[in-house]
Amino acid sequence: MNNIGWLHISRRITQIGFLLLIFLMPVFDILRYDTATKELFIFGQVWSLGLKPGFYNDTSIYGAAHVAIHFFLKAILPWVIVLSIFPLLGVLLGRFFCGWLCPEGALFELADFLNLKTLGRRSLYKKKPNDPDIKPGNRLLYGVLAVLFLLIVPPLTGIALTGYFIAPKTIWHQITTGNFTFGVKAGIIGVSIYMFVTSILVRHTFCKYVCAAGLMQMLFGWISPVSLRINFDRENLSRCTDCRGCEKVCFMDVKPRQARRDIISCVNCGECIAACRKELGDKNLFSYQFGKDRLADKTDGILVKPVVDN
Ligand code: SF4
Ligand code: SF4
Repeated sequence: MNNIGWLHISRRITQIGFLLLIFLMPVFDILRYDTATKELFIFGQVWSLGLKPGFYNDTSIYGAAHVAIHFFLKAILPWVIVLSIFPLLGVLLGRFFCGWLCPEGALFELADFLNLKTLGRRSLYKKKPNDPDIKPGNRLLYGVLAVLFLLIVPPLTGIALTGYFIAPKTIWHQITTGNFTFGVKAGIIGVSIYMFVTSILVRHTFCKYVCAAGLMQMLFGWISPVSLRINFDRENLSRCTDCRGCEKVCFMDVKPRQARRDIISCVNCGECIAACRKELGDKNLFSYQFGKDRLADKTDGILVKPVVDN
């Protein structure tokens, strides 16, 4: 298998792996907050400030320092680390997290795929087909899968995410007995409706304009002089056959050959690299690079003109 095949498969593996991790973390107490006991679980342990018993009776300078140090290490520092994850990812890798790990993005891609295979186009709003040659039998099969997706994925996501606030054992007990508390019902139904609506109507538009984690990575990736980007080899433009494969595979609706690529949207997924590789083999025009595109400013954002007019 060539490198690009591995690129595609690696991305699917990381997406599925991270999706499973997000779904299973509460089950194994890796991360969850129990609203009943008011306890935060991290890696199987209840997270606490670790203050010594009777600390409030110790009025000495050492007692005050003990409280201050523990408060800093156990409360402030963890939040600083959590809040800096996405800016830091942006500085180093642009929106790589969105393209390779984000569970919601992965589910939106699956919804896009089923939409494409059922209707011939990735989005409900587009008139132009992305793939007009799908056989009617296949359309029917994928139509059934699309309905199953909408029936299974939203409630499953609701159950998994509610587990971050209510003990998964409690949720499971309520599901098997059919006796739901308000909190479990509200969590599962709320997330289900959100996933159902976004999976049908919004998908990657949410990633582009709403998701705070995505926007942070975009902003910090944009200003970073070293972040990961997709490089288009404009110096060898004559190789481009204008097959538009790179555009067709881009689920973020970026025009990958554009000089000033849509920095808001590109999630460094590498699908355009794979598509061009399919067309041009070793002479493909896309690659990953760290740092800014040195030719982008000179070409004034104009779409690179194809050499061959079809
Ligand atoms: S431009 Fe390429 S890397 Fe960026 S989102 Fe589109 S297909 Fe993925
Ligand atoms: S850059 Fe590559 S994939 Fe895109 S149109 Fe040209 S040959 Fe096709």
